[in-house]
Amino acid sequence: ITSRHKAWLADWYLYRGEAYFHLNALVEAQAWLQSAWELNQQYGYPWSQAINLLALGRTSTALLRFSDAEHFLTLAHEKIAAFGSQTLMLRALNQLAELGRAKGDAKMEWENRRLYNEMAIADAEKLAKEKLTSSLDRRIRELDTQLLVLQTRQENLMLRQKSSADSELLQTLRAVSLQDPLTGVSNRRCLDDEMPVLFQRCGEDQRALSLLMFDLDHFKNINDQFGHPVGDEVIKISAQLLLQSCRGGDLIARFGGEEFVLLLPSAVSSVAVQIAERIRDKVQHYAWSAIHPDLRVTCSIGVAEKTDESSANELLAHADQALYQAKHQGRNRVELFL
Ligand code: GH3
Ligand code: MG
Ligand code: MG
Repeated sequence: ITSRHKAWLADWYLYRGEAYFHLNALVEAQAWLQSAWELNQQYGYPWSQAINLLALGRTSTALLRFSDAEHFLTLAHEKIAAFGSQTLMLRALNQLAELGRAKGDAKMEWENRRLYNEMAIADAEKLAKEKLTSSLDRRIRELDTQLLVLQTRQENLMLRQKSSADSELLQTLRAVSLQDPLTGVSNRRCLDDEMPVLFQRCGEDQRALSLLMFDLDHFKNINDQFGHPVGDEVIKISAQLLLQSCRGGDLIARFGGEEFVLLLPSAVSSVAVQIAERIRDKVQHYAWSAIHPDLRVTCSIGVAEKTDESSANELLAHADQALYQAKHQGRNRVELFL
């Protein structure tokens, strides 16, 4: 029989003893508990020893063997204090109080009751606190989760707003970067971007594409005679006149100082020349005298039509050559590249 078996045997004796106690067979109970204790002292675990001693204390009290009872319970108290079990300690204190009551020791009863109550209250408070903190913990965690959800949602919202603001800004910047600040028409960069696209599309669609190269005549003189601000005003008004003469699909770009390029998709050269003539006429007959009584403005326009062979740059060069011709032949003229 091993020590482990002896410990089990002790437990078995202990249960028998407690059973006899509940049957009110106190002497048998005491005998079995004593047998259990003999084994438990040597082989039992502290927990079993403590329970054994408590049982012996209770039976001894019931048998009115108060000094035995006090011996067992004091020993139980010591052991329980050593391994620190709340539940067993409460039982020990309760039994010590019961012993005090049984032998008429009011001080013993009162003192152990007080200790019992203090401990029970502390225990209950601790339990309540644990419950409270765990429920508070849960509430805090719930709130944290809700907060996280809200934060994420808000961040998403802010990100979305930011990115839409960014894309707005980007669009504005893009528009600005492709626009001539003085006249509001497209700038050279825009022309460089758009012209190859238009050129290729018209080629694919077998559509005509004509280009007008517009240049104000003797613009240096205008600046010299009326001042730079008047020169600017003339450039602005010229751009407006060009816009008035064009259709939606046309592209107007300020090419240089007082030079503009017009790209006219679907316009064959004869149509382009008509449009150019109309522009030339508008510029000549505009009421420039509103700006200055002596102000007279004319322009020259070179026209070229895209051929199957020509590239975009060649189209530009052809229109430029036609413009040179117009200038050469006396200005305030439209010339077609042939
Ligand atoms: P042409 O008939 O041969 O075109 O003579 P032109 O005087 O127009 O000759 P040119 O093209 O060489 O001169 C253009 C002048 O336009 C030169 C420059 O001082 C002026 N100019 C260029 N850009 C601007 C501008 O934004 N505002 C003003 N006011 N003047 C400009
Ligand atoms: Mg000029
Ligand atoms: Mg010029």
